[in-house]
Amino acid sequence: MGYIDKIIADVEKKNADQPEFLQAAKEVLESLRVVVDSDKRYEDAGLLERIVEPERIIQFRVPWVDDSGKVQVNRGYRVQFNSAIGPYKGGLRFHPSVNLSIIKFLGFEQIFKNSLTGLPIGGGKGGSDFDPKGKSENEVMRFCQSFMTELVKYIGADTDVPAGDIGVGGREIGYMFGQYKRLKNEFVGVLTGKGLPWGGSLTRTEATGYGLVYMVNEYLKSIGDSFAGKKVAISGSGNVAIFATQKVQQLGGTVVTLTDSTGYIYHEAGIDLDTIKEIKLVKRGRLSEYTATHSDAVYKETGNGSVWDTKVDVALPCATQNELDLNNAKTLVANGVKIVGEGANMPSTMDAADYFIDNNVVFFPGKASNAGGVGVSALEMSQNSMRYSWTFEEVDAKLQQMMANIFWNADAAAKEYGKDGNFIAGANIAGFKKVAQAMLDQGIV
Ligand code: NDP
Repeated sequence: MGYIDKIIADVEKKNADQPEFLQAAKEVLESLRVVVDSDKRYEDAGLLERIVEPERIIQFRVPWVDDSGKVQVNRGYRVQFNSAIGPYKGGLRFHPSVNLSIIKFLGFEQIFKNSLTGLPIGGGKGGSDFDPKGKSENEVMRFCQSFMTELVKYIGADTDVPAGDIGVGGREIGYMFGQYKRLKNEFVGVLTGKGLPWGGSLTRTEATGYGLVYMVNEYLKSIGDSFAGKKVAISGSGNVAIFATQKVQQLGGTVVTLTDSTGYIYHEAGIDLDTIKEIKLVKRGRLSEYTATHSDAVYKETGNGSVWDTKVDVALPCATQNELDLNNAKTLVANGVKIVGEGANMPSTMDAADYFIDNNVVFFPGKASNAGGVGVSALEMSQNSMRYSWTFEEVDAKLQQMMANIFWNADAAAKEYGKDGNFIAGANIAGFKKVAQAMLDQGIV
């Protein structure tokens, strides 16, 4: 049995109850075959055995009191996966579906994504099965304070710097930062995604969605094309989806769909983003409210068709993991999709991603195409360390450069290993090689 097969068998045995983590680990390991088979150093140093095992997993109780005076208990996690190239960095997710498998898959992906940004940040992820939906402001604040009261023991500006993710936006980061400061009596860049008046970076809110579109645009430019006149399907209607929509519109494309967890809208004339921002960011409402002001748009509840049934040139899944399966991929290809760029983390199932590549659809995996978020988070850390802030234009220019670099580095790595045009392989290989070199340099730790 070869080295990779041995590691895959071992990971399967040890993590049989963690399907999302297994999916992410197998995808990366499969694409590293070409690298580790030709270089014995990795096997000699037990490098893959080490890279699939988190350096540390922290699981904790998060007790809080709801508005009716009842005690509630949630489960909190922080997985500190790999610190070979810098302090652990990765978001916190608050969603009822959160479990160890999901946090480990996200933390594992984060190692390679963070490496791709070219910045010195390791991989980590955390969160809780707490659902902020339907909770009062005070309940969210009490939960965040309790969560941080435990997390504070394990993080620090040079140790582990969490950010937001699903269910954790500026509001939650604010409550957690306030509690950290109170407990530690220090004002440092221990969280990113902070508000602008208290250490946040311009462009961080837009970074993931913008970055995704910058990467697709870099590819379009390389073939002498552009977003102008392109029809685009986007899923989700949160942070990533909203700013991906904004950038596509600025570049002349038409976004015709968005989704939330209860359904999707199709608007042939193009999504009106001001209305979406009002519903989602201000009122924290449901997408179904969109048709009240736009009667020419169609709303369909989840289970009644799919957002991926639409005929588009570009598809950008920006909601959550495994939201686009093989059947969806077949429909998109049959309808002539040319490019798929992942804004969410692992939104395509593995067979869907393979189907796109086999059918000559240009496919950008999330760990490359959504890296702009963590990239600008790292720039937020730099600004905090300098006690300085760059302008929107300065950060946006760095973001554009970063996404172009990731595109060309992944492209070059794919070509070097005979996988021309396969950005999954290219991103995994380019991300891995840097972390692996750092691990080799640092000895068996
Ligand atoms: P938000 O919480 O802002 O938005 C998530 C969106 O996806 C919402 O529209 C939500 O619907 C929908 N959604 C969430 N879970 C499900 C589900 N199980 N089924 C269907 N729809 C769902 O999160 P973000 O926009 O920040 O994150 C979206 C994705 O992008 C995630 O995979 C995240 O890990 C990834 N990502 C985010 C980054 C960032 O900077 N924010 C950086 C890199 C990756 P509803 O409104 O009904 O809740």
